[in-house]
Amino acid sequence: MYLLNEMKNMVNVFFPKFCPLCGKILKDGESVCHECKTKIPPIPYRERMSGKWSFDAFYYRAPYKGTMGELVKAYKFTPRPQLAEFLAEEFFEIFRRFPPPSDFVLTYVPPTFKSLKEKGFDHMKKLTKALSKKSGMPFYTLLEVEKQRGYQVGLSEKKRRELVRSKYAVVREELYKTWGKIILVDDVFTTGATVNECAKILKLNGASRVLVYTLCRSHPI
Ligand SMILES: [Zn+2]
Repeated sequence: MYLLNEMKNMVNVFFPKFCPLCGKILKDGESVCHECKTKIPPIPYRERMSGKWSFDAFYYRAPYKGTMGELVKAYKFTPRPQLAEFLAEEFFEIFRRFPPPSDFVLTYVPPTFKSLKEKGFDHMKKLTKALSKKSGMPFYTLLEVEKQRGYQVGLSEKKRRELVRSKYAVVREELYKTWGKIILVDDVFTTGATVNECAKILKLNGASRVLVYTLCRSHPI
């Protein structure tokens, strides 16, 4: 054990980790420095949603700007898979503030083939898995992007447009294992079109309640 710690320290000396926001050298076990962490704002009050939505409620951790915005961008665009744990902890703060009922299960908005290829990892799946561990709520992959038919050669323009319209599909065998009460996790709520589309298709396939939780929100609703 002593030797293992020694080795770990040596690795840290030779390959120090840096704060993704300010560049400061991180202490052991940190993924964001203490100073940057304290700049993350508290969870906002839940806002009333106007308009027609397929989901039943929406909660988020912080606006898509400042410290939290930068962290989410660093996680999804840089990309930095090692931030998953930290962001899952921030996500869990929303559950502490607005606890979901215990018979709900977690799922996430799946990546497109293109984004998966660019990032090299499924960033929402990784985060939702970490969140599942923290919260003890079961995790299911309930949604998938309609198989990469859109990338097939020789597809007509009309067909391609149809594919865009039905971008997500439900993994029914998985949905039937649940009580149909779903927490849909995503990184950023912008117009809400994506999570709404996912909620709609989940409900069309038998889900009874869909609660949307995201790390950030970028526009007023
Ligand atoms: Zn920092």
